Amino acid sequence: MQFRLEKVLRIMREFMTHSNQATSSLADREYLSAQAQHPDSLPFDYSVTRAKRKTMVIHVRHASVEVRAPLFVSVREIREFVTRHRAWVEKKLSEKAGQDAQRLMLTDGGTIFYKARSLTVRYISDTREAIVITEREFCIHGPRLNDEVAARILQRWLLLQARTVLPARAKALAGYLQAGGRLKEVVFRKTKTKWGHCTSSGRIQFNWLIMLAPDAIIDYMICHEVSHLLHMNHSRRFWAVVESVCPDYRIYVKWLKKHEHRLWL
Ligand SMILES: [Zn+2]
Repeated sequence: MQFRLEKVLRIMREFMTHSNQATSSLADREYLSAQAQHPDSLPFDYSVTRAKRKTMVIHVRHASVEVRAPLFVSVREIREFVTRHRAWVEKKLSEKAGQDAQRLMLTDGGTIFYKARSLTVRYISDTREAIVITEREFCIHGPRLNDEVAARILQRWLLLQARTVLPARAKALAGYLQAGGRLKEVVFRKTKTKWGHCTSSGRIQFNWLIMLAPDAIIDYMICHEVSHLLHMNHSRRFWAVVESVCPDYRIYVKWLKKHEHRLWL
């Protein structure tokens, strides 16, 4: 019962911010039910996932919209909720569409965002495998090139750099932070959602795609994961350790938020 009351109060607050009028709870509810009888058709589809939760929330991922809703709310209430947040969902969908257009397209003539520069991908038929970067172009050399072969060459190239740079730097930083004994191993994996990960057993995992990012971002990622050897959370104490090594970390966090979608392959 309490959840319901909270929900109604929340709806009221939301409603009143739009209407800018102090209306009674009853009037709000009547308004909402009247609106539900003439629901606007929405320009997007959405899926509903029921969960043991108290409130509704909308997630927009690429082109899909998902509503997570408590077990007790009706389909009509969910529709009202989505309709009320229609403008926000549409804005998110167009943002995601823009991001998708900026994604790394590994194909001849595509675009790659390397060290914060947009470069044109070029395939150059060659007997040896190599990557050569010029002012405007990111040239992938190799025999019998197609998108798949080029992706493998790029992966080998980035992985080699990751192996050369990341474990040594992570070890050195762990030593500096007097956490050297806690670092057991550094491994590499391409995941869809994470740049790095640190387990309580002292295993740090890096996504080798981070090597496409500017060096300062790579340094920040090393600092972030190594700091987890001291604090396995994102508490204030954790960020204090990060800041002690990387005082400008906020700039890098922001940069990643803004640009990371351009680095995923
Ligand atoms: Zn973290």
